[in-house]
Amino acid sequence: MSQKSHPAGTVQRWTRTLIPTLRDAPAEATTPSHALLLRAGFMRQVAAGVYDYLPLAWRVLTKVTRIVREEMDATGASEMLMPALQPMELFEQTGRAEDYGDNLFRLRDRHGRETALGPTHEEVITDLLRTAITSYRQLPLILYQVQTKFRDEPRPRGGLLRGREFIMKDAYSFHLAVEGVGGLNEAYDAMYQAYSNIFRRCGLDFTVVEAESGPIGGSASHEFMVNCETGEDTILRCPESGYAANVEKCEIGERKWGFDRGAGTPSASLERVHTPDMPGIEGVAQFLGVTPDRMLKTIVFEAADAVTSGGVKWVLAVVRGDHEVNEGKVKAAIGFRAKLADEARAKQAGFAIGYVSPAVVQQTGLRPEDGVRVIIDPDAAQGNIAWATGADERDHHVRGFDWRREMGAILDDQRYVKVADIRNARAGDPSPRAPGSKLVEQRGIEVGHIFKLGTKYSDAMGLAVLDEGQQRRSVIMGCYGIGVSRTMAACVEMSHDAEGIIWPAAIAPYHILLTVMKPDDAAQIQAAQRLASDLGEAGLDVLIDDRDERPGVKFKDGDLIGLPVRLTVGDKALAAGGVEFKHRSEAGKGEVVPLGDAVARCVTAVRA
Ligand code: ATP
Ligand code: MG
Repeated sequence: MSQKSHPAGTVQRWTRTLIPTLRDAPAEATTPSHALLLRAGFMRQVAAGVYDYLPLAWRVLTKVTRIVREEMDATGASEMLMPALQPMELFEQTGRAEDYGDNLFRLRDRHGRETALGPTHEEVITDLLRTAITSYRQLPLILYQVQTKFRDEPRPRGGLLRGREFIMKDAYSFHLAVEGVGGLNEAYDAMYQAYSNIFRRCGLDFTVVEAESGPIGGSASHEFMVNCETGEDTILRCPESGYAANVEKCEIGERKWGFDRGAGTPSASLERVHTPDMPGIEGVAQFLGVTPDRMLKTIVFEAADAVTSGGVKWVLAVVRGDHEVNEGKVKAAIGFRAKLADEARAKQAGFAIGYVSPAVVQQTGLRPEDGVRVIIDPDAAQGNIAWATGADERDHHVRGFDWRREMGAILDDQRYVKVADIRNARAGDPSPRAPGSKLVEQRGIEVGHIFKLGTKYSDAMGLAVLDEGQQRRSVIMGCYGIGVSRTMAACVEMSHDAEGIIWPAAIAPYHILLTVMKPDDAAQIQAAQRLASDLGEAGLDVLIDDRDERPGVKFKDGDLIGLPVRLTVGDKALAAGGVEFKHRSEAGKGEVVPLGDAVARCVTAVRA
């Protein structure tokens, strides 16, 4: 035993640690991981979205963190630790005091200084580096930390999946250039690989998806999603090309469109209908005797400022009634900053919010020349359909809307009207990468996010270094987050059965549950202790269930906490010189193996 190549494992007794299992899931538990982590004694709620991590959870978190650290260190990153308490002033310098809104935990210290509990650390690290580095010679640089973050989420949900206090690994990289050796892209690719390694090593089934593009454009951001039906996020995937993106980002392939009615398509007359107190598209459609995919939905956006928008004030985004407008795509299509219109302001300008039609641009003051633009999704730009839509008057709709008849030549004026992909993708849409192939939809849990920031923070806060030619250059940044506590929960979401959790060996709190049937029986306890110490020597972590409980209770709790292997020391097997061996993931009773083989069997099972 003297030539061990691995550190000894931990051996602990159930009666010497704290595992307060519960018979039933507390009523507030809404997802499997929430219920199971509470029932299995891994955590307790202290306040909404705030939890104690009990010893079993802490062991899992420690193992996840160890994997994260190994992979981060392998990219050349250095670990550090920044404070959770942050001066509000830093968030004001980047405008994020406003962007974060109520999600930012704010407090005031005894001197009246405004302070925030850090939701993330771009500001703090940029502030650090603007005085700590001066020259391009100090770049590239990657720094990371594992730390508690605070976000006052409007709806904390699913236990650790969306907490208000949670553990995150956040890394930040700093570069002089985007391309080339030492550039942002090189670090980004290394992080992409490290993240893939981390989630694979944690035993997770995941998909990497394209997410929101940053200022650099292209695929500047990726999310790592655990594949799981209970996930909050929608992922779209093209089975043909492998393209995958989140619903905010997903492009849609080529769609045919045209405003003119084809020869042979009968025309319908335009008809105004009184539609008082109709809640939503569904209700109106039903009342009008059409399906939502025969309705046009017009959402009004307002330009953030007239300078960047070149004088445009309002943008009408038109999609089919059964589709959702995608704000990011609208912004990309118009090319300037805009947001959903303030309802009061839009009404005052003349838009009957809730009843707007694209033809509203015929009205005085709302014409294209007055600064109104229309962006139409291809599926809505169909001349062959007699559409139902708003009548530009409260409580009124129209039936039989014909694009060409109602709008005329304006539709061809590309200064004012544009057809573009501005809606969320969904299953069945054409793939943007493989003609003929259709997108499929699946659910996921975002456990990691990598992002090319560019110079957003360095410009806002003045982080620059001197380059070879003694010129001051803004530092180019990337940021890379992993939800460590969410990863633990996501693993449980993905890997459990009716009886409890099924931990992958790499992050299981202990590898082996050693159940002693009669803990007051000297022979059994002695055999268990010898076995545990041999398993520990072999590098395995062992939890001995030495409780004075009925076997039924022990087996039930054992399945609940979900360690990969259960060894059971009982009279019958012991008399035959054996011990019962059972995989958590396999049903049935398990098999008796000779005591002398037990360690090898366990090592094989855990390292498999
Ligand atoms: P979400 O969209 O789920 O709110 P986010 O995109 O705002 O998350 P990031 O700012 O990208 O989150 O944070 C990095 C990582 O931290 C996320 O990928 C996620 O794993 C984790 N995380 C974010 N918010 C929470 C939370 N409230 N509870 C637990 N983990 C979180
Ligand atoms: Mg994110």
